[in-house]
Amino acid sequence: MKNFKIALPLDFKQAANLLAGKQAKFYPMAGGTDLLDEIKNGIISPEAVVDLTSIPAMSFIRQDKNTIRIGALTPVDALIESSLIENNYPVLHQAALSLATPQLRNVGTVGGNLCQHPRCWYYRDPQILCWRKGGEDCFAYAGKNKYHAIFGGEMCFIVHPSDLAPALICLDADVFIISADKEKKTKLSDFFQLPQDNKRGENILEQGELLKEITLPLPKKDEKSIYLKLKERSTWDFAVVSAAVRGKFSGKKIDDIRIVLGGIAPIPWRLDKAEKYLKGKIVSDESIRTAAREALKDAASLDDNAYKLDLVEAALVHAVSSLTE
Ligand SMILES: Cc1cc2nc3c(=O)[nH]c(=O)nc-3n(C[C@H](O)[C@H](O)[C@H](O)COP(=O)(O)OP(=O)(O)OC[C@H]3O[C@@H](n4cnc5c(N)ncnc54)[C@H](O)[C@@H]3O)c2cc1C
Repeated sequence: MKNFKIALPLDFKQAANLLAGKQAKFYPMAGGTDLLDEIKNGIISPEAVVDLTSIPAMSFIRQDKNTIRIGALTPVDALIESSLIENNYPVLHQAALSLATPQLRNVGTVGGNLCQHPRCWYYRDPQILCWRKGGEDCFAYAGKNKYHAIFGGEMCFIVHPSDLAPALICLDADVFIISADKEKKTKLSDFFQLPQDNKRGENILEQGELLKEITLPLPKKDEKSIYLKLKERSTWDFAVVSAAVRGKFSGKKIDDIRIVLGGIAPIPWRLDKAEKYLKGKIVSDESIRTAAREALKDAASLDDNAYKLDLVEAALVHAVSSLTE
């Protein structure tokens, strides 16, 4: 591993200033559970790491009128411990609980979880210059693609690894982005970018921009939500398919529903066709399966990952029906 310097900024503006103009040389670090792996494995070789954990008071979960605010440096574990999260947003609480191990959840932060890089084995192999690392080809397309994308692939078939992202998009989260001279707010659903729109990153952050805070509207009365994560192993693992579902129901009738999937596309994937089909319908195995199949018509599976189509259908049946039990 190449030596690198550590900078300890006092606030986000100072951190952003240090990072500005230092593309591929200076990287922000929060818990370091992903970034340090990338450095140790030779995927990136920074000259300096800007340690955001030196910034005081950016780890918090608090209510501000009709909004819940979450600091980007809040450890994932704090989402599990927070009664504000557990009582208002089961989908987020369950997503946090499903994530990694207790040790990683203690150190890994919410901001780092949203900004982490893909786990694709071609991307994570320092010997392979894949499309995402500036090469010509996505080797997953014709190679080993069991864990890769069935939606939105095109140039590169990574899947977004975050468990929190589908849950937060399902809850209609906003994010605050800060740079040396300005701060802006955007929908988390507009934060992530497909590889064809951004070859070198998974989101809209430019060098010198940092994620500062995530906000959530308070839930509507009688709203229900769930996060279901399907993984290959019963111990810690990334999702092969996950479903974040939030809805309002009159008995078994679906008044409103939002579905965001993880593990199947380079970005958290909203299933709007299924949502449209389901609105006004009665919850049953048949109605959910029909909605899933309708949405899955747009999927393009690769040689080894067609099993994800069945998993999406099964995940939706389980998740949506459990909200009306
Ligand atoms: C064994 C293992 C299992 C894991 N399992 C899961 C899992 O099941 N589900 C899951 O979702 N994740 C999983 N992860 C991924 C990840 O490590 C954690 O999700 C963690 O939350 C990342 O947070 P961090 O603070 O450590 O990020 P870091 O490693 O510090 O940063 C990750 C990336 O985000 C950037 N970054 C960090 N903070 C900011 C910010 N505020 N603004 C802009 N950029 C920022 C960094 O530059 C880096 O590129 C796992 C990781 C490991 C090692």
